[in-house]
Amino acid sequence: MSCLFCRILAGEIPAKRVHEDDELLAFEDIKPEAPLHILIIPKRHISTLNDLEPADDGLVGAMIRRAAAIAKERGVEADGYRTVFNCNSHAGQTVFHIHLHLLAGRRLHWPPG
Ligand code: AMP
Ligand code: ZN
Repeated sequence: MSCLFCRILAGEIPAKRVHEDDELLAFEDIKPEAPLHILIIPKRHISTLNDLEPADDGLVGAMIRRAAAIAKERGVEADGYRTVFNCNSHAGQTVFHIHLHLLAGRRLHWPPG
């Protein structure tokens, strides 16, 4: 198994898990870009946003709603937070298993550059 996030899912690589359910795992980013930086991934391997199908709409909705739930748990929902999916090289995607970044805890720059 070569996918880094599939290896985290399998427990082969450690991660600081913050949420797990039937379809999703959330864990702390190893190189946080903000005081709060969590990644939310589907348990099923999907390489990029380009590979999503209509049947995945519920899964993607669950990822976004999970980000909002974690933001509330961490008390950042009022100050605000950012959710990001990077897709392919121009966006800087480095792990080819889709993941939603949840960033919070400081004022984030816009545009992101
Ligand atoms: P992206 O650049 O959108 O593909 O984001 C990949 C993210 O995965 C980066 O923010 C990395 O810091 C993070 N990352 C890479 N390896 C690990 C790991 N072993 N555990 C947690 N996060 C990781
Ligand atoms: Zn994977």
